[in-house]
Amino acid sequence: MALLNCKECGKALSDKARVCPHCGAPFESDKVSVWIWIALSIFALVVAAVWWSGPMSKEESDSRDAIAKCWKMYEKQSLTPSEKVGVARVCEELEKKLALRLPYLRR
Ligand SMILES: [Zn+2]
Repeated sequence: MALLNCKECGKALSDKARVCPHCGAPFESDKVSVWIWIALSIFALVVAAVWWSGPMSKEESDSRDAIAKCWKMYEKQSLTPSEKVGVARVCEELEKKLALRLPYLRR
C-alpha cells in the first residue's frame, strides 16, 4: 500500500482512501491511478536496473573476458592444429551463449 500526500493538508494518506482522513478533502481517483502508474514505472525501472546491472552483467562481463582469453589462446602459435580445433569449439560455445545478448561478438 503506497502512501500519498493529501493535496489539501499535505498529510500522508493511503492510496486506497477516497477521502482524506485528516481534513476530509475528497481524493481524486484519477490521481490515484496516475500515482499507481508512476509507482509501477519506478518499480519496473528498478527491476530492469537490478536485472541489467546485477548478476546478469557480471555474468556478461565474465563471459566476454572468457571469450577474449579463449580466442587469445586460439591464436597461440604453439598449439597443434587439433588443439586449435578444440579451443575454437570452446570459444564458439562461449560466444553462442552470449550471441543473443551481445550480437556484436558474432563472427
Ligand atoms: Zn487532507
